[in-house]
Amino acid sequence: MKATGLEFGVDWYPEQWDEGRWRHDVERMAGYGFTCVRLMEFAWTVVEPEPGRFDFSTFDRAIGLLAEAGLEAIVGTPTATPPHWLSDRPVFRTSPTGAAHSYGTRRNLCYNAPEYREASRRVVAAIAERYGGDGRVAGFQVDNEIGHEASDRCVCAHCRREWPRWLERRYGDVGRLNDAWGAAFWNTSYASFDQVPVAAIQPSTIQNPALVLDYDRFCSDSAVAFAREQTDALRAASSPGQWITTNLFPPPLSNAIDMEALTDGMDFASWDNYPVWGDQDEPLPWQFNATAQSYVRGLRGGVPFTVMEEMSGFQGHVCLGYLPPERRVALWAVQAVARGANRVVFFRWRTAPYGQEQLCYGLVDGDDEETERLRVVAETIRRAKAELSSLASVPVESPVCVAYSKDDARVLREQYLSKGLLMRVSPTVQAGYDKEAASWYAPFATLGVGADIRSVGSLDPDAYRVVSLPLYQMADPAVVDRLGRWVEAGGSLVLGYRAGARDLLDRNVEAPLPGLFAELAGVRVPRFESLNETSAALRVGAVPGRGGVWADVIEPDGAETVAVWTDRGKFYRGSPAVTVNRVGEGRVWYVGTSPSPIAMLALYRRILKAAGLRPRFAGADVEAVERRDADGKAWRLVLNHSPRRRRAYGATLEPWGWVKLPAD
Ligand SMILES: [Zn+2]
Repeated sequence: MKATGLEFGVDWYPEQWDEGRWRHDVERMAGYGFTCVRLMEFAWTVVEPEPGRFDFSTFDRAIGLLAEAGLEAIVGTPTATPPHWLSDRPVFRTSPTGAAHSYGTRRNLCYNAPEYREASRRVVAAIAERYGGDGRVAGFQVDNEIGHEASDRCVCAHCRREWPRWLERRYGDVGRLNDAWGAAFWNTSYASFDQVPVAAIQPSTIQNPALVLDYDRFCSDSAVAFAREQTDALRAASSPGQWITTNLFPPPLSNAIDMEALTDGMDFASWDNYPVWGDQDEPLPWQFNATAQSYVRGLRGGVPFTVMEEMSGFQGHVCLGYLPPERRVALWAVQAVARGANRVVFFRWRTAPYGQEQLCYGLVDGDDEETERLRVVAETIRRAKAELSSLASVPVESPVCVAYSKDDARVLREQYLSKGLLMRVSPTVQAGYDKEAASWYAPFATLGVGADIRSVGSLDPDAYRVVSLPLYQMADPAVVDRLGRWVEAGGSLVLGYRAGARDLLDRNVEAPLPGLFAELAGVRVPRFESLNETSAALRVGAVPGRGGVWADVIEPDGAETVAVWTDRGKFYRGSPAVTVNRVGEGRVWYVGTSPSPIAMLALYRRILKAAGLRPRFAGADVEAVERRDADGKAWRLVLNHSPRRRRAYGATLEPWGWVKLPAD
């Protein structure tokens, strides 16, 4: 695979424009500093107008023009929107709400529909044959936003047929399933796998959480097999210089699909970065975005990733909201590079005049005038290439890590415990786990300490000084063991509330909480309260703050108190809210709530200092990321996420500005 320093591209849909405009478009793209163009990912009908009859002439000409202008193509496989000749076939998914999808939108297909899978294999094989080894094509994007728009889960007739077979492979005999799921409850003992219902959303209450969790895993395996088929076909036909990726969407943790498994076999992960979408009145906090970038980077072991869609301006399908200043949009792209991207592709070249995305504004509009957003993006490209290319291919080094558990994210989506962990983006998307994970990542980012994000399964604690582990209910004894040895040797583990509350079958543990972590944490948690959308006063050392979401009433059993509940309205006033336990050379911090940002900063500052790290607070709007260049020299990128001029790290930052400084 070719090593690129840092490159910028743009998403382009030649099939949506009169061919007479193509050359001018492409020459302008090159003139503004773009070097790659993603195309084809929604053009199935164009390349296969009838089943098995392929016509790549449109894209051959488009890719030819790109090459003439010095631009490489990124070819997307077009399997997220079916062609018209599949419109009357049984290929559409059924949402867990029972709603049936139909032709005319996207992400409306079932990964288990045989005719869809067969058609996908055929079109991907044709694309692989056509563009595999083609020097004008830099790489391939598998499908588009797999799992987005609730396409992670399906309860259609195909899934109904496949699900019992999946269960049979997992459990062997139905008695084992009954034991694992606790089928003695509510009379759900099954006599055969075929009796097990799919995890449709019920008119009242929920299915057995263990069933829902397994159904998520089944859906994940279905999507992963679908993607893997494409990856393998593209790999077999591509040259060593061509790469394969897929573009994920935010927020990804609560999605049923295991994105590590989905991107397995690919060269790097990509994602689509929309800090503001639709009717949002404010963009997501910059820390949330830093979390997402670091999560994507961690999926493939920290290799540089791509932002395949970087929003250009205003975006939405049915409603628009906050209009980000152009310099803020540019700063989001720089943030991606700071957090480990080496390729940023802007969405999209020109705004579509029609269709479901006519409110998704591109870099230029129909009048083809130079927009302010294009001007600012081009200026940012020039500066970023000059200043950041030497950093972009060097993997990010981080002394700390936030670890997540995919299974806990799945369980929390349905059984969210507290309204503080409820963030319903749509009827079937509940991103509370993502929000909480981001709030456990945010203090690292705000204190200028580089942090990775890894799944508990891929986490190597020896690579870090501090590991933060929120919402780890389903504790794996092997993970607890490994973390225990690492703490003994000097590691600092930050455990969140609910740690160790369940076993790997999602059963409540039959031991005092925090279960397997009790000895390491040196605490017992016999009582707890869900705070939902309220909060309770606490104090971290001398710093007053609030605890939200959850309140553990901690009884120290060897641990020291770090924060205490001070709320006059709570009977547990005076009890610890946060503790620390010395274990060997290391420490285990137990955090029995979701502290408010100020309390969280005070706590993390203490944790980091105790671990020998140097937290630096330069303002709530200031992000600082340390990176090394190809020669090993250390730099600090400082970003000002505010509309005001700031002084930080000895430098003056313009509104939405950034600087690269030698790291001290
Ligand atoms: Zn299905």
